[in-house]
Amino acid sequence: MTDLEERLLIDGELIAGEGDRLAIENPATEETVASVAAPSPAQVEAAIAAARRARREWERTPAVERGEMLHEVATRLRARTEELADLMTLEGGKPLIENSDEVGWTAAAFDYYAEIGRDSAGRVIPSIEATQLSLIVKDPVGVVGCIVPWNYPLLLLSWKLAPALAAGNVTVSKPSELTPLSTLALASCFDHMPAGVVNLLCGGGEVGAAIAASPEVDCVAFTGSVATGKRIAAVCAERIARINLEMGGKDPFIVCSDIAGRVDVAAHGGVWAAYLNAGQVCTSAERFYVMDDIYDDYLQAFVETTSGLRVGDPFDSNTDVGPMVSAPQRQKVADQLSEAVAAGAELVLGGGDAGNERGHYFAPAVVTGAPAETDLLREETFGPVAPIVRVSSLDEAIELANSTPFGLGANIYTGDLKTTVRCLREVKAGTVWFNDPLTDNDAGPFGGFKQSGLGRELGREGLEAFQETKHVHIETEIAEKEWWYPYGDGDEAPRDGVGA
Ligand code: NAD
Repeated sequence: MTDLEERLLIDGELIAGEGDRLAIENPATEETVASVAAPSPAQVEAAIAAARRARREWERTPAVERGEMLHEVATRLRARTEELADLMTLEGGKPLIENSDEVGWTAAAFDYYAEIGRDSAGRVIPSIEATQLSLIVKDPVGVVGCIVPWNYPLLLLSWKLAPALAAGNVTVSKPSELTPLSTLALASCFDHMPAGVVNLLCGGGEVGAAIAASPEVDCVAFTGSVATGKRIAAVCAERIARINLEMGGKDPFIVCSDIAGRVDVAAHGGVWAAYLNAGQVCTSAERFYVMDDIYDDYLQAFVETTSGLRVGDPFDSNTDVGPMVSAPQRQKVADQLSEAVAAGAELVLGGGDAGNERGHYFAPAVVTGAPAETDLLREETFGPVAPIVRVSSLDEAIELANSTPFGLGANIYTGDLKTTVRCLREVKAGTVWFNDPLTDNDAGPFGGFKQSGLGRELGREGLEAFQETKHVHIETEIAEKEWWYPYGDGDEAPRDGVGA
């Protein structure tokens, strides 16, 4: 085990935390691989104060220069792909290949916002008079607190950090207590930027709570569970701070009859959407609604593909599915599955430890016949479990798809135009993917309907989340206006009963 010191980035300096030490576990071996000290409350305040001091200079920096610095961040990230992917694999258990991809997507987000941030600073609207100019000016919000979970530590951070910086904000970021190493290793990717613009902390919920409650933090951008998101929303409501919340999901996956000839492809896509990162993706497919006439074929293809998955060491390039992140996360999923089976569901495949004595492994599970009211079909399952449900019509599939308090993503397999148009209009989710599960696009806004979130990341919407809107009205003629006081010339008698 390594004791890591001087890892926090505060005001451009690498310093040692003075708070509790976090022990970092390798979820594949259950060994503690490192320990790092969290910041004390005074150090959290110091990071926020450093951001506040850096604010004016960064806000005044021309957007094109900020863009150049963000491109440089992307270049440095790409150059360190191997090291950062190794760290994410060590602390999070996601297969190395997925973590290498994650570094690439993280860099791409910085490149995207480097350009979008210098493309526009607002707009001109028609003025009321010919002598006037009316502008909509986009201002930075100020100090942005970025709080992220463990499943995509760098990517989800970049979806906040890159647009916030591009829009001229300063930042204080905190990764999950389970995966701080990769984030704290980022410091040198930002050392060409002015001190205080990017501050990187670590720590548990108490550090996140201190950031969210600080009157010096103007906006909190959060990704994580609904429960934590609600707490942050309540704290920020008290002081009317801006929030952007990306929370849980219960994504449906609808398979329509018209793909009868390509059931194998839809099953392969479904397996990937359900088990990617051991099902620990906010947009994992968590409920499969399959039309009656293709149900048996689909289930068979799904089970066959699932049985071929290689579950094991995330550093092994042949591994498809690594361990889950922690023992409590694994237990939560195992409990949800047992509860569904006790209520009458059939566990067709998986659910055990995939033959591993150590590590938080969970063999990808296929479940049929789960009663509609079980948590397995209603609450988020943050693990590799695929409940497959037979439906008799598109109406039924859409109704079930919309039946939970979540609305993050949805997948639909169909080649039929009418079905496509109906689903894209009627399915209530922030992203609807047709025949290509879970593909993100930096230019496409990402976020949730209902309890899955508030606001959007990525795309122009993701930049606007970190901007205040100012209407500027300029009159170039300095002259009296006829509608100013006095309203009358003073000669008229008062009306009966008024002003008498
Ligand atoms: P979590 O809510 O437990 O923690 C998320 C972050 O919030 C961590 O950094 C944690 O330390 C911090 N935190 C905890 N309590 C806090 C408090 N009171 N105030 C401020 N910060 C606090 O979530 P998790 O278990 O780390 O992540 C899994 C969840 O994240 C799942 O529900 C998943 O759906 C969600 N998620 C959503 C998206 C999305 O884009 N919508 C993406 C990935 C994950």
